[in-house]
Amino acid sequence: MRCPFCEHTESRVLESRSTESGQSVRRRRQCLNCQRRFTTYERIEFVPIIAIKRDGKRESFDRSKLLRGIVRACEKTAIAPERLEAIVDDIELRLHQRPKREIHTSEIGEIVLDSLKDLSEVAYVRFASVYQQFQGVRDFVEALDRLRESRLEDNFEEQRQESPESAPNCAISS
Ligand SMILES: [Zn+2]
Repeated sequence: MRCPFCEHTESRVLESRSTESGQSVRRRRQCLNCQRRFTTYERIEFVPIIAIKRDGKRESFDRSKLLRGIVRACEKTAIAPERLEAIVDDIELRLHQRPKREIHTSEIGEIVLDSLKDLSEVAYVRFASVYQQFQGVRDFVEALDRLRESRLEDNFEEQRQESPESAPNCAISS
């Protein structure tokens, strides 16, 4: 592994540990030349996922881009970085478990929002504002409403499991 600071190719591993989801191994390394430290990740290679953008262009799914987007949405919240990594691991796994290799970026956005909705209202709305290209305050309010409605629906889901016939049909318009 080439050192990102001096490009020396030899380093020693100081620490190895599995990430929270067990999908990857994180290694803390020290360059044998400049002694600086850096982190590498090791994970199973899957067949690449192709993301179809809003304008129809295709590009391979970029895990680090997704992580950056989520990190940005979660800035100044109390959510630990390890938790965000675990979320991205989980999303990536979900993408790889789908039978199709292609996915619209809007669907990825929905999956992310689904992961963020119970974690942080702030992060949810920030991410929604980027993914859905909010035009103004009204869009924020609508996103918050959707979040609250989907939480209500989750409660209905729980009730439905207890009494299958009595739960109201709660549809969410998108
Ligand atoms: Zn170095």
